[in-house]
Amino acid sequence: MFNKTTFPNYIQMKQHVPQTIWNICRFLTVGIGCGLIITSFTRPQLTLFIFWRMIVPLLPILFFIAPGIWRNICPMAALNQAPRMFNFGRNLTLPNWLKNYAPLIGIILFVVIVSTRKELFNSSGPALGLLLLFTFAAALVGGYFFKGKSGWCSTLCPLLSVERLYGQTPFVTVPNNYCQPCVGCVKNCYDFNPALANIADTYDTDHRNSLYRRLFAGLVPGLILGFYVIPDAPHINIIVMYEWMAFFMLMSLGLFLMLEVLLKASSYRLTTLFGAVALNYFYLFNIPIAADTFHQLFGITPPAVILWGMYAILFVLSAIWIYRTYRKERKYVPSAPSRTSELRRVSNVKLAPPIDQLMDTHPSYR
Ligand code: SF4
Repeated sequence: MFNKTTFPNYIQMKQHVPQTIWNICRFLTVGIGCGLIITSFTRPQLTLFIFWRMIVPLLPILFFIAPGIWRNICPMAALNQAPRMFNFGRNLTLPNWLKNYAPLIGIILFVVIVSTRKELFNSSGPALGLLLLFTFAAALVGGYFFKGKSGWCSTLCPLLSVERLYGQTPFVTVPNNYCQPCVGCVKNCYDFNPALANIADTYDTDHRNSLYRRLFAGLVPGLILGFYVIPDAPHINIIVMYEWMAFFMLMSLGLFLMLEVLLKASSYRLTTLFGAVALNYFYLFNIPIAADTFHQLFGITPPAVILWGMYAILFVLSAIWIYRTYRKERKYVPSAPSRTSELRRVSNVKLAPPIDQLMDTHPSYR
């Protein structure tokens, strides 16, 4: 039997980390981010190495294990929430068209940025600096105009879809430390309850939300595979590179849709499976890169057994994560793993009301 504490939202959780510690971390991450913007122009090679080799590879595993930590210390979030914390924002409500399409814009931004890494951002410090500057400025401007996190972090941020996909069943749940109080700025908010946000989207009567989750989960394994197997510039013509990236993503998405039809698996289960595959793909390529980074930094080559151990740990954690994620669905949807459309056709199957009660946090969404 469901009760409200089965998946407590952030309001019902205890904040274990003092506010001062979060503030110090935010100050540091914003400082590091601004420092990287400056050094991307003055010391481009060093900045590229630090950003792509030492920071970015750690993010997916952080989203997977404890996404709440990143949501609380991300420099873009800190800038986005600065107007709210220092009380100088406009607190506007996001226009409806932007509410509807912001997740899609975030997904497109992510795909374009990752694809363009191969041609530009991997090799050009100034281009990376401008990219960081643009995202930081966009987060700040979005926070100035729009209430809650609706101006960037919970809508347009290119990392949000990744965080939602990998972080839907966190091993360590760290409650949102920003929204005090919650102003109900977005529907099915990930910061309100990360464990339920994806289920709520999948079974939302607004089909767009489910579509965005399926779209991203479907294409991301292809995006990652394409990124690592397609040659980088200047070994390939830029147009051909983008064509190949699109081909890999479409193949991946096609496979997703085919499995959805053939297996009659619920969208929620399939997005979870594709998320786990994407994460394992990512580290299949990045664990050897991490070993090379370690060698460049300390002159020591980690033995192969350590690398295989890391693969094995990730694989086992992914299996546990899939199991835990699947189990959640059954607690909310009695007939899982039926598909949403089938659920609606079967008159005696009701979606569990607590999703709406828990996720639609504000009267504006009731
Ligand atoms: S809905 Fe509430 S918890 Fe979610 S971002 Fe907006 S204010 Fe924060």
